[in-house]
Amino acid sequence: MTLKIGVIGTGMIGRDHTRRIQQVLAGAEVVALSDVNVASAETVRKDLAPNAKLYDTGEALIAAPEVQAVLVTSWGATHEPYVLAAIAAGKPVFCEKPLATTAEGARRIVDAEVRFGKRLVQVGFMRRYDAGYVALKHAVENHTGAPILVHAAHRNPAVPEAYVTPMAIHDTMIHEIDVFRWLLNDDYVSARVLYPRNAARSHTKLRDPQVVVLETKKGVLIDVEIFVNCAYGYDIQCEVVGEEGTARLPEPMTVDMRLGAKRQSTILTDWKDRFVASYDVELNDFIAAASKGGATGPSAWDGYAAAVTSDACVQAQESNGQAVAIELPPRPALYA
Ligand code: NAD
Repeated sequence: MTLKIGVIGTGMIGRDHTRRIQQVLAGAEVVALSDVNVASAETVRKDLAPNAKLYDTGEALIAAPEVQAVLVTSWGATHEPYVLAAIAAGKPVFCEKPLATTAEGARRIVDAEVRFGKRLVQVGFMRRYDAGYVALKHAVENHTGAPILVHAAHRNPAVPEAYVTPMAIHDTMIHEIDVFRWLLNDDYVSARVLYPRNAARSHTKLRDPQVVVLETKKGVLIDVEIFVNCAYGYDIQCEVVGEEGTARLPEPMTVDMRLGAKRQSTILTDWKDRFVASYDVELNDFIAAASKGGATGPSAWDGYAAAVTSDACVQAQESNGQAVAIELPPRPALYA
């Protein structure tokens, strides 16, 4: 069976996921496209999905009888209504992060899915599908003993002036927030944010770098350096310290060169290259589960937990280093 997918939002990631479905993965086909920028949807149809029908609105696409599953890849603020409409229609939906722009919005999606009684939503937290993180999780669960500390860094070469301090959480650290809950099989209880002096390359409305310290229910301390104008490259680091030893996220594969009396290897500069393979695996997972009418992987509950944690981190950015509590209500049985 070929799963018939409708894509809402044909910008950068919507176009890339369409390419994946049409040219890389088996078992699915893009049959419908919608974007408020009609020219963008037309271009994606012409380039990648010539048989797809264009819809004026995302709601019309979700309601279309030929659409069996939905990809929501529009701007963040539009995710919640589209995901709710897909749940109401009983159609599996893959939603790029964020699930919603507020914790309340994410909670409304959780409640709707719980009322529906079956998982339909997968959130685009693709790091869980990265081969390096999967190997790290295996090492943490099987070799290094119970985790005590996590040291992590998320560095980007540069960001534009429009990038302001809270975006370090909402746009950048959101992936760490999700992946460490999954990696440690744990939940957060508090967040603190500490700032060194501002880096010379930072902007007037940006504190950069910053260090977020998360504490978990099981007592693990996680320090995450976010440095989005680090200049030298896109660099994701993670080391877990356990009772018996440590485990470190593998570096991306690179050729080790000896040149001019120096050892050299390339550091990536574009985040798209760093996790490119994991996007294929996450969508493959979506296609497999949606073909059976359901969803797997990062859930609406995970999207909600990430939203609650993000809000606490943003609050902590303005709390002079004081801890901000992170409280989640009881997890519904659907997400056990
Ligand atoms: P983009 O601006 O390139 O594309 C978004 C598209 O959505 C645009 O074409 C825009 O016209 C369209 N759009 C806006 N409102 C709409 C609406 N109401 N209905 C239909 N279409 C609408 O942005 P992008 O970089 O592709 O990001 C899209 C989403 O994907 C964002 O939420 C972003 O956070 C997320 N994203 C996730 C990752 C990841 O690593 N998982 C990477 C990139 C982007």
